[in-house]
Amino acid sequence: MTVERPRILTGDTPTGKLHLGHYVGSLENRLALQDDYDCYFLIANQHALTTRADKTHDIRADTVGIVKDWLSVGIDPDRSTICLQSEIPAIVELCWYFAMLLPFNRVMRNPTLKTEIDDKGLGDTYSFGFPLYAVGQCADILAFRPELVPVGEDQVAHIEMTREAARRFNQFYCGVDPHTEDADYVKEGGLFPIPAAKIGRVGRLVGIDGKQKMSKSLNNAIFLSDTPKQVKKKINAIYPGQSREPTDPGDPDINPVFDYADAFIKDKNLIDDLRTRYRKGDNLGDGHVKAHVIDAVNELLEPIREKRAALEGPAGDAKVLEIIKDGARRANEVAEETLALAKEKMGFNFAKRELTLS
Ligand code: ATP
Ligand code: MG
Repeated sequence: MTVERPRILTGDTPTGKLHLGHYVGSLENRLALQDDYDCYFLIANQHALTTRADKTHDIRADTVGIVKDWLSVGIDPDRSTICLQSEIPAIVELCWYFAMLLPFNRVMRNPTLKTEIDDKGLGDTYSFGFPLYAVGQCADILAFRPELVPVGEDQVAHIEMTREAARRFNQFYCGVDPHTEDADYVKEGGLFPIPAAKIGRVGRLVGIDGKQKMSKSLNNAIFLSDTPKQVKKKINAIYPGQSREPTDPGDPDINPVFDYADAFIKDKNLIDDLRTRYRKGDNLGDGHVKAHVIDAVNELLEPIREKRAALEGPAGDAKVLEIIKDGARRANEVAEETLALAKEKMGFNFAKRELTLS
């Protein structure tokens, strides 16, 4: 008898290349869980339309680029399913049903949406689809009925909304008592488990601007595919939060370079030593700390760059397109089953449908 592994769903939006924040916030967890969970990694290309509706060909190029980044860090398409949102129609249908379960004001109060509107300078010009993407994310996740969602801290508000949508569906259409503990929803007859966020080792890596979170679209990222020269230039450009000479006492806690030191230098004694000397002003220049961080980041990125280089060019593109096709088949098996079960619970099960992919 084969025992089904619990599922994981998470993903990235193709708004650019993957960066160090993705690595420590989510990718590391995905790699660690690849064997013990049935993993689905989604490229949210429909969500990329929220800010780039006029640039679908860029979204396509970034989609291929992100799959290459995933393969380069060690996501294995034989063990995990790589899936493209726009190839999974059940997600859009589920989005409609979840949109009816979440109060409008609840969606608009979502703090991650508010932060994104500010950070990305969207003002009041964002599309109707922009807040809808948060509901869409509930559908992305729940289409796979996962137990865990490995994400960075900024996604916690979205996962909380997803949990609310799941609870409400289970209560409305599966007769689950609203007092039920989250862990017992499926046991009590619910269709959807109440999924938990799994935050990475570093939940929010700051960008090289030293202020906002590192983001693909904020021009403050060190990309996984950056060259050693680019890494050096970007880290050297970080403002250390204070102006000091090597012999001046400094505060490592307001220096973003130490966030990178904590995240990427493996030798904890070295970090402690740098911190102590920095505090004392023990002849430790900012350039010296940065040099250690540059080495550590380049050590992490070197094998990733090598794998990435092997995927460049038309042969790499063709490989990615095959992976996307194969992933679409596997992802739709699960998502179609979820949608059929959801419609059955709702009494909307009039005709059985078969999805054919070629
Ligand atoms: P965008 O600027 O388009 O929003 P992004 O850089 O925020 O892009 P996403 O695709 O939105 O990247 O996020 C993908 C995953 O990576 C999410 O789980 C998110 O929480 C995580 N993540 C993104 N940036 C960071 C960061 N700086 N630190 C930790 N985790 C992060
Ligand atoms: Mg984001």
